[in-house]
Amino acid sequence: MEYASGGELFERICKAGRFSEDEGNSVTMKVSTEMIEQMHKEAEETWVPELVRVMKETSEPFVNVIYDCDPLEQVVWDNVVLVGDAAHPTTPHGLRSTNMSILDAAVLGQCINKCTSLENLGLALKEYETIRLPVTSRQVLHSRRLGRIKQGLDRDDPEPFNPLEASMVDCQVLQQKSMPFFMGAPTSDDQCGFCERVELYEV
Ligand SMILES: Cc1cc2nc3c(=O)[nH]c(=O)nc-3n(C[C@H](O)[C@H](O)[C@H](O)COP(=O)(O)OP(=O)(O)OC[C@H]3O[C@@H](n4cnc5c(N)ncnc54)[C@H](O)[C@@H]3O)c2cc1C
Repeated sequence: MEYASGGELFERICKAGRFSEDEGNSVTMKVSTEMIEQMHKEAEETWVPELVRVMKETSEPFVNVIYDCDPLEQVVWDNVVLVGDAAHPTTPHGLRSTNMSILDAAVLGQCINKCTSLENLGLALKEYETIRLPVTSRQVLHSRRLGRIKQGLDRDDPEPFNPLEASMVDCQVLQQKSMPFFMGAPTSDDQCGFCERVELYEV
């Protein structure tokens, strides 16, 4: 499985001429012999021998492309609202996608529920955006970072993760509980102000 942010892998594959654009648009793709060889080479540089052997003995490897997207600046336009993956496609490395989508729907429901008239609908949708956008944006970026570390793609990043030199604190970022708002995210029912809520729930 390959992970690339914002369509990076798709670009790479199409430009390298390994797939036509139509083939590249498929989420799951068969891979050429050349690409398999490249994967095995990269695996040897990255993974323990046992795992490399599993990869080499897999008779029909495939690439499952994972896209995420930079956090959006807004998820509400007039009466149009984005929720779930449409609002924040994220990598699976944070194990959070469905939870994020469900919470979007719950908070949106709460905000709309408080609407006393249709004239207030815009305010309700803005409240939804104000509550959810800072939370999901941080979760998307955290998940991206985890993905880059876990797949060895962070080597050229400004601060790559080096397991041989990493401190205990550096390693803790890889734990699932380090996901921002893991212990709970703000909802519309919280009593305190929004800014206080974000601080309260920050991990
Ligand atoms: C292979 C895979 C494994 C995953 N595993 C996990 C996991 O283990 N844990 C986890 O938390 N998350 C996982 N996810 C992510 C999770 O499935 C999504 O985050 C979640 O389903 C998002 O919900 P959603 O309602 O936003 O989008 P979706 O579930 O994608 O629902 C969108 C719906 O809109 C429909 N649709 C699209 N376009 C149109 C249109 N033009 N008109 C009408 N309908 C349309 C689609 O058919 C679909 O039914 C996984 C995703 C994938 C692909």
